[in-house]
Formats: sequence, C-alpha cells, structure tokens
Amino acid sequence: MANRWGIPKEVEDIVRNSDRSCVYCRIQFTDSTKSFKSRPTWEHIINDIRMNGPENISLCCGSCNASKGSKLLEVWLISKYCIAKKITKNSVASVVKDYLEKVN
Ligand SMILES: [Zn+2]
Repeated sequence: MANRWGIPKEVEDIVRNSDRSCVYCRIQFTDSTKSFKSRPTWEHIINDIRMNGPENISLCCGSCNASKGSKLLEVWLISKYCIAKKITKNSVASVVKDYLEKVN
C-alpha cells in the first residue's frame, strides 16, 4: 500500500493500528485480501491533502474510496452506494462521526 500523500509516518502508524476495517462500510481488512474492493486505501475524510493529521486520515476499502471520490462526505452519505450498503452517519467509524459532529 503506497503512501503517496506525504502522510507523516507517525500518523500512518496510528491509523494502521486503529483502522482494521473500512471506516465507512466496516469490511474487515485481512492480509489475504487481494481484491481491489476490500483492499485498504488511504482516505482523507476532508478532501484536503494538506490535512494529514490522525483526525483526517483513515483507511477505507477500495470500493468506498472509488465511490466517494472527491465528493463531500455529507453528500456521499446520501448517495445510492451508501444507501445500498446501509452506510449512515451512525454506522461509520468514530473518527468519521467526530468529523460529522463538528460540521453539524
Ligand atoms: Zn468500505
């Protein structure tokens, strides 16, 4: 998993240790996972690559990352993808909930 975002190593270590599953759909990451869809990918909760702290960096699966793209989290959460996967502001990981509480 290449880190091409300039994420500091200490942040990378914190996040890798805390995010064992997708912060959005909660699929478990395993070492045997080879498929793109359930592979962990670096996610900026706020789409700003200058914000590289642990409150903005998380790991989500390739499937969620591809769907979310550059959409605002609040907008993405009401997309067909999230509805189909039952991803809501109440089902996401606490790092994402913390962000949503701040903006609301
Ligand atoms: Zn996911």
